[in-house]
Amino acid sequence: MKNSSVVLVSSQSSSKILKECFESLINLAEHELWVSVEFIHGFDSFWVPTPKEELSALSDIGIIDIGDDQEMIHKIGSLAHEIGHVLHDQSRLLSPVQETMFSETIAWILGYNWCLDRGVEIEKNEYQAQMLEALMLYKRELEWI
Ligand SMILES: [Zn+2]
Repeated sequence: MKNSSVVLVSSQSSSKILKECFESLINLAEHELWVSVEFIHGFDSFWVPTPKEELSALSDIGIIDIGDDQEMIHKIGSLAHEIGHVLHDQSRLLSPVQETMFSETIAWILGYNWCLDRGVEIEKNEYQAQMLEALMLYKRELEWI
């Protein structure tokens, strides 16, 4: 079911709204996707799936680490992206395709739509900018290998 009231968040939103939306998305992710969201030092965020052999009926399927040294709007964008990785891993259609640029791109898209469906619309220009910056870093990293 789609949420009928959507909150638009951007770097211009009040810190109260940003914090509320961030916390609400964390709660939804933890309850719907069986992940645990934690904070780590630095700018970077990660999706760390629980190794298959350690999975049990009661365990989380993995941990989303969010870098604490980011603007709140970027923390929300990073959370959306890492949620997108979880959705990609769970997708019967998409999960077999694990090529880096594909999975990085699809994670930004899947995560954005997941948040939007749950009532949080991340301002699209800012989200695109964050996405493009992250994708450029990956592209450069791959070119170096
Ligand atoms: Zn990623």
